[in-house]
Amino acid sequence: MRVLIVCAHPEPRSLNGALREFAVERLRRAGHEVTVSDLYAMNWRAAVDGADFLNHEPGQILKVEAASKRAYEADAQSADIATEQRKLLWADALLLQFPLWWFSMPAILKGWIDRVYACGLAYGVGEHSDRRWGDRYGEGMFKGKRAMLIVTTGGWASHYSERGINGRMEDLLFPINHGMLYYAGFDVLRPFVIYRTGKLDEGRYRQSQAEFGARLDTLWTTKPIPYRMQNGGDYQIPSMELKPELSAGPHGLDIHLTENSGVDHQ
Ligand code: FAD
Repeated sequence: MRVLIVCAHPEPRSLNGALREFAVERLRRAGHEVTVSDLYAMNWRAAVDGADFLNHEPGQILKVEAASKRAYEADAQSADIATEQRKLLWADALLLQFPLWWFSMPAILKGWIDRVYACGLAYGVGEHSDRRWGDRYGEGMFKGKRAMLIVTTGGWASHYSERGINGRMEDLLFPINHGMLYYAGFDVLRPFVIYRTGKLDEGRYRQSQAEFGARLDTLWTTKPIPYRMQNGGDYQIPSMELKPELSAGPHGLDIHLTENSGVDHQ
């Protein structure tokens, strides 16, 4: 299988750098092809602007979605974007690896999503009408591919637990897992998270590495997070609200899961 690892850490000798090297070696030894996009090493430009779209006329008002669609369809995107899109289309699995920064991904990685996720590729796909909101949430161009987040935090696991002050980790990661990955069609696996990295001694590092290795070994067989498909009949059209009879029991973001047992999000 083919794996794309996109990582966002400025220091290769960091914990994140060590985890990335470990993942590459583990996956290659298991016979997988691995490509790495190391965003800081690539000096990745995070901000979208008119230069992304080679057929955008200077002076013309920039409407990003329309410009993105035009450039994507005309093969007129800036070369760095097109290269990353080819890697995405090549991959059977996408791993996004990052330290949690202000409860989300570092800006450079968000900028990778903003720029690489073109209109017509990751969104704006399929029929958009008063009956349908396109092919998204379980459908789309990346259907059939798998994705997983690899995240490190300063905070303790308890800070991110059900009653933890930071909010539940699965809720913090929902915009990425559901809004960016599942939206574009990926089957999303529960994230691999290492908490309390400031107190990571050699013993816990080795234990974390072993757990991470097991997650990589089961990348193709692990059951994905059971998000509800947009076009599977669970949502009202066109409001896209979950049908009232389906929301009993779980609350919050968990209403978007088809089942609420057996899947541990962290
Ligand atoms: P490093 O600092 O490189 O390493 C951490 C520890 O891991 C080291 O001290 C060492 O003990 C061990 N280690 C590293 N490499 C190895 C190795 N090769 N072998 C064995 N052990 C090793 N945290 C939160 O919880 N929530 C937030 O919202 C948040 N926001 C942040 C915002 C910013 C801007 C910053 C800078 C930090 C934030 N943090 C937050 C903390 C951040 O998530 C952690 O510092 C980060 O996840 C640690 O990962 P690292 O790769 O930088 O670790």
